[in-house]
Amino acid sequence: MKHPIVIAGGGLAGLSLAIALRTRGVDVTLHEAGIYPRHRVCGEFISGVTNETLDTLGIAKALMNATPLSSAVWNDHRGRVCEIQVSGRGISRWILDDTLQRQFTSLGGKITTQSRILPSSGTIWAAGRPRRSGPWIGLKCHATKLSLTHDLEMHLASNGYLGLAKIEEDKVNICALFKKPTPAGAKGTSLLTAMLRESGLNETADRLNAATLHESTFCGVAGFQTGRQPSFGFSIGDATHMIPPLTGNGMSMAFESAEIALPHALNYARGDCSWDAAAASCTSQLDTRFRTRMIASAGIHHFLTAPATSRVATTLARTRLLPINPLLHLLR
Ligand SMILES: Cc1cc2nc3c(=O)[nH]c(=O)nc-3n(C[C@H](O)[C@H](O)[C@H](O)COP(=O)(O)OP(=O)(O)OC[C@H]3O[C@@H](n4cnc5c(N)ncnc54)[C@H](O)[C@@H]3O)c2cc1C
Repeated sequence: MKHPIVIAGGGLAGLSLAIALRTRGVDVTLHEAGIYPRHRVCGEFISGVTNETLDTLGIAKALMNATPLSSAVWNDHRGRVCEIQVSGRGISRWILDDTLQRQFTSLGGKITTQSRILPSSGTIWAAGRPRRSGPWIGLKCHATKLSLTHDLEMHLASNGYLGLAKIEEDKVNICALFKKPTPAGAKGTSLLTAMLRESGLNETADRLNAATLHESTFCGVAGFQTGRQPSFGFSIGDATHMIPPLTGNGMSMAFESAEIALPHALNYARGDCSWDAAAASCTSQLDTRFRTRMIASAGIHHFLTAPATSRVATTLARTRLLPINPLLHLLR
């Protein structure tokens, strides 16, 4: 290969593209600002990605032991809204990211951790959601001794939502997205339960209090906006299109964007096109692939979370007037 490739960001988009390029003989160096393994704010529910995408990227094995998830329920402060059939997998980012980085290094790829680099020509930008002021705060932790009614529970609150998903070893991933501000004085997992109480989900907060919440797995994130992100040249994953977390499709999009980027990055590595041409054709293909999903998800997210419309949404869903399956289809 004529040109080596540098990737900034060793999350799902960066690692899966790095593995796919390395498998095809490209010299790849990846810079990751953090370390492995580590907990990340994520619902840890993967849905939408096809086996073909995983095979093209060469990462199907990393998801082999993920927990299959098929039943889901949507609740609000009044109880059950409706049940939904889903097709997904649950796996912690602690395991998934670490498995992928090991696969990459076993293929001869080079990773430098605790290395935060700047965007530049010749670097594929897979550095995740850019920091932008936004109204949301994301919180997550793992729990044991928490039994779920379904593989996945979604709890819609007055100022956000909470997802409970089965992951490996009988653990449950708890992940919430709430509107700021946060209650004063509360920290760690008690911040999570305090926010649930503040948003009217007292029964769910009681269930979490009765379970074992693992403080060492707690993490939080703020300062982001969903939607199309300001571009840094050749970008993939959340760095370019961040879909609202409620859809459970962000990780799939990270993989899909790596799959879309692969032929463009290979063309550049072989010397068949310039960096700018590879970046431009990849960006245009990503925009085309994700346009419908991004527009639909922004509308659905607003409809479900804005106080004025979320009551309408739950009433329609309770009376089976909300076309859930067609809406889910728009998000994949
Ligand atoms: C609250 C919440 C819940 C979610 N729930 C789900 C869910 O249930 N299902 C789902 O599919 N998706 C979910 N998502 C979305 C999902 O987590 C993301 O879409 C996915 O992680 C995007 O992968 P990525 O590789 O693009 O970015 P990331 O996974 O964020 O990886 C980016 C990496 O780049 C590194 N980095 C940053 N800056 C630099 C730099 N300058 N130099 C080097 N490295 C850098 C970071 O440390 C990070 O490791 C959720 C997101 C949030 C916020």
